[in-house]
Amino acid sequence: MKPLNPIFAGAGTTIFTLMSALANKYGAINLGQGFPDADGPLALRERAARALIDGPNQYPPMMGVEALRQALAAHAKGFYDLSYDCSAEIVVTSGGTEALTASIMGLVARGDEVVLIEPAYDSYRPIVEAMGGTVRALRLEPPNWALSEAALAEAFSGGAKVIILNSPMNPIGKVFDRAELELIAEYVDRRDALAICDEVYEHLTFDGSTHIPLATLPGMFERCVRIGSAGKIFSLTGWKVGWVEGPRALIGAISKAHQFITFTTSNALQVAVAQGLESEEGYFLCLAHELQGKRDFLAAALARIGFKPLAAQGTYFLTADISGLGFSGSDAEFCEHITEHARVAAIPLSAFCTGAAPTHLVRFAFCKQRPVLEEAAERLAAYFKRG
Ligand code: PMP
Ligand code: GLN
Repeated sequence: MKPLNPIFAGAGTTIFTLMSALANKYGAINLGQGFPDADGPLALRERAARALIDGPNQYPPMMGVEALRQALAAHAKGFYDLSYDCSAEIVVTSGGTEALTASIMGLVARGDEVVLIEPAYDSYRPIVEAMGGTVRALRLEPPNWALSEAALAEAFSGGAKVIILNSPMNPIGKVFDRAELELIAEYVDRRDALAICDEVYEHLTFDGSTHIPLATLPGMFERCVRIGSAGKIFSLTGWKVGWVEGPRALIGAISKAHQFITFTTSNALQVAVAQGLESEEGYFLCLAHELQGKRDFLAAALARIGFKPLAAQGTYFLTADISGLGFSGSDAEFCEHITEHARVAAIPLSAFCTGAAPTHLVRFAFCKQRPVLEEAAERLAAYFKRG
């Protein structure tokens, strides 16, 4: 047989699938893969159910159902004062994952350099490489994960055309502040580059820190596309409704990629998400507040056991340093070990890095009901005989 595409044929199964399978195998509480264990608003699920019965159930428009594009334009205007023309500057996709793929396909050509900020979400690199792009990794360092100008200068020194910026950032829970965004904007502008901004956790920020889209900085609107996901906003990760917003020229190319990936996504889910954006703002504002309490609970419980939790200003995730626990293996071995023996699953941070990655950090998802987090904390405490 002739060789298959080495990028995909040679790829492993994602760490999320691997750890969820292991959690199932051992009956572990799954704090690995990031998904809430309580579904989002009933009114949205009822709206989607009704739309399935009433229809239409044939192909929705390629760019997305008009009601959703209008709701997205109003959302971007209301929260960030960003004005997108819903007829040409917003495309609805099948989840943030497809939004990322379509954006990379639409913007990255063979030979282009793309800056990824590590630890980075796992889907970015393979799609960049499949398009013939070259990754320039900019590694943030624990425990502060600060972005330095020197690192940014180095990352752009090869003439990068695109940077993928994820804020709030999975897996480390970092929310880029205005000073860091200004620095990124300076390089994007000076190097005539573009930014794919993965903002799927835009509404999940804590302690009064707010999400600032890079697109809102001076000169950035024309250079940025913004990616969102209803899965994260409404705790409906299985719906896979996402979107890309950006200036007409960029969305034009991205929608051409989208038309050949999925072309469109379910009408019923799109109309329900439109209703959610219009009338369920309270849900996601409250969700952030609840998540902050869960983060605090888990961080305190982990600290009592001997983990050293790092700061998390947003997302579903808390990173913890395992070096005080006396475990001699890697982060990946640690996660497998606690899944089997403490029956709590986590994700090793090295899965989000290339090259010499840190091996003393693991990620816990805290988007779970309080009793579930309590039980996880008890299991870990009992296993490590502390807490
Ligand atoms: N980007 C990041 C940083 C994520 O954590 C996720 C998680 N699921 C996605 C994109 C994909 O979003 P979706 O589930 O809507 O495809
Ligand atoms: N975004 C989720 C996480 O980081 C996982 C999504 C997936 O399984 N592909 O845990």
